[in-house]
Amino acid sequence: MSGRLSGKVAIVSGSSSGIGQSIAVRFAEEGANLVVDYRNHPEGAEDTKKLVEAKGAKAITVKADVSNVSDTKMLVDQAWEQLGSCDILVNNAGIEKGADFWDVTEEDYDAILNVNLKGAFFLTQAFVRRLRDAKRSGRIINISSVHEDMAFPHFSTYCISKGGMRMFTRDLAVELGPLGITINNIAPGAIMTPINKSLLEDKPKLDALLKNIPLGRMGKPEDVAGLAAFLACDEAAYVTGSTYFIDGGLTINYHEQ
Ligand code: NAD
Repeated sequence: MSGRLSGKVAIVSGSSSGIGQSIAVRFAEEGANLVVDYRNHPEGAEDTKKLVEAKGAKAITVKADVSNVSDTKMLVDQAWEQLGSCDILVNNAGIEKGADFWDVTEEDYDAILNVNLKGAFFLTQAFVRRLRDAKRSGRIINISSVHEDMAFPHFSTYCISKGGMRMFTRDLAVELGPLGITINNIAPGAIMTPINKSLLEDKPKLDALLKNIPLGRMGKPEDVAGLAAFLACDEAAYVTGSTYFIDGGLTINYHEQ
């Protein structure tokens, strides 16, 4: 298959919905074969697989909870065993839960940090170990958030997980550069996906948000997928350790109502 990612294999964590699903489909359009990871939505993962196959690419679905270290290793092993290699990793799986800081429970803190940060950390470790052993280069793309940088009151757990991801990327760019592995973050603003269900159903809140977005609309998962495809392809070979904001101008315009 021809395309900018022809001959590559990519893992996209949490690709049974939203941004992850869009990235998987876009990568397939660019010629990559896909490992579709999911935690508890096999039907969503099957949808992604079908959409990938409709682009003429191969796809496997793997049930792996990224907050479980042995699952992350198994996920990478499945890529190599079933698709022969693994060149690109997208750390997309993520969750959020709002609460006033003084009400955050230990259980919620652990749940969010374990998926968003520990999950990305150990999945990346498993991915890098296989590449290092095979002496191959690779690409890591983290789906962070504008909240790796911008405050989000009442979502402290989410913010610190994405803030941690920001530093993870900068640190690993230095450590992995000599291995020929690049790592970058994509920091989306407000994108129309299931994670924003309650926002999409709250018109006054949505209207207030749209006023803060200079481009006047929420982003689409496909907008994020286009940037991910660029960061995964040869044209981005010299790009590492950076965050790419994709937010319609929200970050530089934001103010509390
Ligand atoms: P989403 O809820 O559709 O996607 C999140 C995916 O992660 C789901 O498929 C979910 O099943 C999966 N997941 C959750 N926990 C998992 C686990 N332990 N193991 C494996 N998979 C798991 O929402 P989305 O908006 O597509 O979110 C994707 C990423 O984008 C997240 O990291 C989110 O923080 C980030 N993001 C989204 C927005 C937005 O506005 N939608 C903005 C900034 C950042």
